Amino acid sequence: MRKITIAKGDGIGPEIMDATLAIIMAAGAQIQTEEIEVGEKVYLAGNTAGISKESWDVIRRNKVFLKAPITTPQGGGYKSLNVTTRKFLGLYANIRPCVSLHPYVKTKHPQMDIVIVRENEEDLYAGIEHQQTDEVVQCLKLISRPGCEKIVRYAFEYAKQYGRKKVTCFTKDNIMKQTDGLFHKVFDEIAVEYPEIENEHWIIDIGAAKMADTPEAFDVIVMPNLYGDVLSDVAAQIAGSVGLAGSANIGEECAMFEAIHGSAPRRAGQNMANPSGLLQGAIQMLNHIGQTEVAEQVQNAWLKTIEDGIHTYDIFKEGTSKQKVGTKEFAEAVISNLGKLPASFKPVQYAKNTSLHLPTYKRKAAAKKDLVGVDLFVHWRGTDANELAVSIHKLDGDGAALTMITNRGIKVYPDGFKETFCTDHWRCRFKPANGALLTKEHIISLLTKAENLGIDVIKTENLYQFDGVQGYSLGQGQ
Ligand code: NAD
Repeated sequence: MRKITIAKGDGIGPEIMDATLAIIMAAGAQIQTEEIEVGEKVYLAGNTAGISKESWDVIRRNKVFLKAPITTPQGGGYKSLNVTTRKFLGLYANIRPCVSLHPYVKTKHPQMDIVIVRENEEDLYAGIEHQQTDEVVQCLKLISRPGCEKIVRYAFEYAKQYGRKKVTCFTKDNIMKQTDGLFHKVFDEIAVEYPEIENEHWIIDIGAAKMADTPEAFDVIVMPNLYGDVLSDVAAQIAGSVGLAGSANIGEECAMFEAIHGSAPRRAGQNMANPSGLLQGAIQMLNHIGQTEVAEQVQNAWLKTIEDGIHTYDIFKEGTSKQKVGTKEFAEAVISNLGKLPASFKPVQYAKNTSLHLPTYKRKAAAKKDLVGVDLFVHWRGTDANELAVSIHKLDGDGAALTMITNRGIKVYPDGFKETFCTDHWRCRFKPANGALLTKEHIISLLTKAENLGIDVIKTENLYQFDGVQGYSLGQGQ
């Protein structure tokens, strides 16, 4: 018997949770539920996080959390419970299967059956943002080796356990050679450990276009956080099943399962809502805790119910549907189909142990790190880079000299184009002569001199080589 935490949430949440639990318990799930209150009531009682400390204790104790959608009140500094939960519990992987249910649910892609594996903790979502000049703000994109290794390995292990044939990686590493470049590199490293699974990499723009046009060409797709956020919604939408999709958020210790839709307040309390999204989340949960036979039975009974034409209002269509039912009646229909297999959909068969056990991350030996230069970022309201270069060259001599100025990444000095538009945010790159190394003292002395000359340095970025490999990008056009 496995204890799990449940939250019935807001709006249609309680109805779809009751329906989901009724189905999985009837199928013989060996679970005991412990309920917590999260969401609107908690927010409106003055807790801006939407969850109490006691509820966190329950979630952390039980480790597995099945959550119905909640309503985040508008305005007023309320924090998204989903984002907080993912970050606090280290739920690094977001898994969203997107399968079309043609001809019962309208889609342009009858053959689509893909799983989006989204990195869930890093990338631009660290939320580290700064305004640096009048005209320029920045957001730090952080990609880590452990972050990449965990998510990529999860994607391959998932593919192996669920009998998937191919894992595709989407990045934009032709532009972001360091950050997306690391994600791609780790993907290539880990892919060789799974010779039985095909692997490929696509640049995200054309990959996304291809996914939206011919999703049947893909199987499992793994990607960094922001791309995954956008494309998992695109994938669910084109499968035709936003209201029917579930998702899993997996961490090393804890996991959270849910529907992808919201609390649909207008449908609340009317026995109308479709419980399928949360049920799909619950099936992922049953697989995660190793109750794979129950998961398989529920999924097959659900597929049979859909193909029998027993539909809630949201997917009901004259012609293909046979009977319009409410939330409770839909759950009863699924329960009456337990033990039966679908006839037109392919019945699912899960490996007998679908709970994935990944090795813990092992930190590699530290590389030899050499300081080979520094970028000084300068706030300057002029427009001619050659004029700025004259004053910046006055800093030359403290172990390093100005070699380049860029504006928004594009080289504007030396040999810039007068056509290049420039903001008030300039990057001035200093490098030692003849491949010598720089020291922190050199940088401090550069900064002191700049201060004395009235040059407004707003930040510095050290340029390193790691084991002789350049750890920074060149200026565009350099
Ligand atoms: P929504 O997903 O709740 O509703 C969008 C549309 O889909 C509505 O027309 C609704 O009636 C329909 N719909 C959604 N789920 C359905 C179901 N199971 N059965 C039948 N119809 C369904 O999105 P929204 O209206 O933008 O958001 C409502 C609230 O939900 C907001 O407060 C939002 O913050 C919250 N929300 C929560 C989560 C979550 O908890 N994970 C996710 C998204 C939105």
